[in-house]
Amino acid sequence: MSNNILQTEIDYLKGVGPNRADLLRSELSVYTYQDLLQLFPNRYLDRTQYYKVNQLQRNSSEVQIIGKVINIKTVEQKRGNRLVATFVDDTGEIELVWFRGQRWMRDSLKLNTPYVIFGKLNWYGNNPNMPHPEMELLPDHEQSIRTAMQPIYPSTEKLGNKGITNRVMNKLMQQLFSEVGQRFRETLPKSLIEELKLVDKGTAFFNIHFPKSQELLAKAQYRLKFEELFFIQLQLVNKKLLRKQKIKGLPFQQVGSFFNEFYNDHLPFSLTNAQKRVVKEIRRDLGSNAQMNRLLQGDVGSGKTIVALLSMLLALDNGFQACLMAPTEILAQQHYNGLFDLVKDLPINTKLLTGSTKTAARKEIHEQLENGELHIIIGTHAVLEDKVKFKNLGLAIIDEQHRFGVAQRAKLWKKNAIPPHILVMTATPIPRTLAMSLYGDLDVSVIDELPPGRKPVKTVHRFDSNRLKVFHFIKEEIKKGRQVYIVYPLIQESEKMDYKDLMDGYESIVREFPLPEYQISIVHGKMKSEDKDYEMERFFKAETQIMVATTVIEVGVNIPNASVMIIESAERFGLSQLHQLRGRVGRGADQSYCILMSSHKLTNDAKTRLETMVQTSDGFEIAEVDLKLRGPGDLMGTQQSGILNLRIADIVKDNDILKTARYYVQRVLKEDPNLALPQHATARTILDQLMQTKQPWNYIS
Ligand code: ADP
Ligand code: MG
Repeated sequence: MSNNILQTEIDYLKGVGPNRADLLRSELSVYTYQDLLQLFPNRYLDRTQYYKVNQLQRNSSEVQIIGKVINIKTVEQKRGNRLVATFVDDTGEIELVWFRGQRWMRDSLKLNTPYVIFGKLNWYGNNPNMPHPEMELLPDHEQSIRTAMQPIYPSTEKLGNKGITNRVMNKLMQQLFSEVGQRFRETLPKSLIEELKLVDKGTAFFNIHFPKSQELLAKAQYRLKFEELFFIQLQLVNKKLLRKQKIKGLPFQQVGSFFNEFYNDHLPFSLTNAQKRVVKEIRRDLGSNAQMNRLLQGDVGSGKTIVALLSMLLALDNGFQACLMAPTEILAQQHYNGLFDLVKDLPINTKLLTGSTKTAARKEIHEQLENGELHIIIGTHAVLEDKVKFKNLGLAIIDEQHRFGVAQRAKLWKKNAIPPHILVMTATPIPRTLAMSLYGDLDVSVIDELPPGRKPVKTVHRFDSNRLKVFHFIKEEIKKGRQVYIVYPLIQESEKMDYKDLMDGYESIVREFPLPEYQISIVHGKMKSEDKDYEMERFFKAETQIMVATTVIEVGVNIPNASVMIIESAERFGLSQLHQLRGRVGRGADQSYCILMSSHKLTNDAKTRLETMVQTSDGFEIAEVDLKLRGPGDLMGTQQSGILNLRIADIVKDNDILKTARYYVQRVLKEDPNLALPQHATARTILDQLMQTKQPWNYIS
């Protein structure tokens, strides 16, 4: 059949009037037949199974039982009556309960007559009951067709109120199939279908909406998930290939004296193998004719900065300028201090540009960038301003990318006639699972090894009731000359309360750690930035031993002498934040500690988070747990990525299918890079269509 009929507007489907059409559009984004066809059920009620009363289990969701009602009575309660029936089969009995429609039920229920009941169970101790069961007389049930898996469609309150119930959706779906028939154009290459033993498209669509068995449903789901992931990967991998072919990069052909002299004479330590590998990967990119677009992942403290510097030196060696951007002034300043120190003996002009750079200095920087006297600029968003022009920007490095928006990255591309090479560094480990689908068109380097001699941070979880012991421990560490962070949560919605918690905490710490023996710094979001900097500075110079702070210190701060991190109300932090905070310690030679304080009241998720932190310090492992707990929706980058818009596949749960899809995409494109062979014609057409529509993931790089 022709697939054009699928483009028919939903108004034309029999059973859909103007009102329903409006609702389907506004509530479910169903505009066409095709949209309806692709409105997949959220879940299925398994009505293929019949349970005996003695088989019921707490974790069974909806169950179906055959039996009889042997008595029925009204139970009076303060809050209104309920109707209770005793339902029995040959293995036992359960109660059926009604709160609404009691009179009608009472009148119509037939005692001692076989029924099939279906519904959810509530448990009271060991006794299950079923509120408001669906009931059907056994002979009727045997004749009806609803004996298989019953699809449950996505719905909204409004749809329910306006009478578009699941039953109605079901009918519309049947109508749809009777209008369009059951044959759909195949979209996957035939050879793939055969090799993977996939069901054809028509069978898949039919069984996703009207599955006759678990097995057929599973096959339909696999096929549709595979197809969805296949075409996403096809886009990403294809885009990567295209970029490599088309976007000309600045050729950094030589490794010159800046790089060599620094590497041989000024490198303060030898690189880890992971660092060496990554530098090689970057060098290969820069030396090829394509533009580099690389993501560098490395846990906190893994040594990304030196890799950034070496890359910038390569730019300088080839006559280009380089910039390094950080999300906050403190971090930019810290990078500047660190890098300036490293290259001070080389003839390199390096400057810092932030929001608080004074006008005269700013003017000079602008001039020097434009005439090429300035080699390396380190800064914040200030670098992106339109006024900032480069003579020849060759490499832009962005640290802690998640604070930078996509639009801002796009600005970088325009700072040079040929787009500069771009290196994005992040300490937020992105699970490989997700990286593959999010950044399928980016190249990814990973520093998966910490510099030698680092002692893992000892992490423990303590309840608030043990606070005195914790204070005692802090005093012992301070005696040894160490410094301590005490961090409080800062969550936007309850900022006021957080502020109060912080201040209460601060006061009790001041009482516990009195002057003059102890000096305390405090930094929080409500302070002026000069005051913040002043307090940070005091801690940095070890004039204070304790830093009380909200999460403003989260990213990148490097104070090796600080060896204790206390996190208050740790149950309120997300895993990646906890991991970032812990990364502030363990940067020096001493044993470091992270103490997670919490109340006794913990949700299961909070427990898992704290246990994970205690058990592992591997950022990737933590990220995987985080992904499982929260789903991809809350992870950085996913909002813009469109990965949430998947219709049927689930990035986390269907990871194996994703891998398979990616493997086959690569194979297909290797064999036929332009999808020019006849067996790939349909895939070609679909890819072209997809590339035309602005898919959210087209914005990632
Ligand atoms: P991050 O990846 O978190 O940005 P940094 O680049 O700030 O990490 O490095 C953390 C610390 O480790 C710095 O003090 C740095 O000088 C040091 N470091 C980096 N690489 C090495 C190495 N190969 N050997 C020893 N120390 C290193
Ligand atoms: Mg860093």
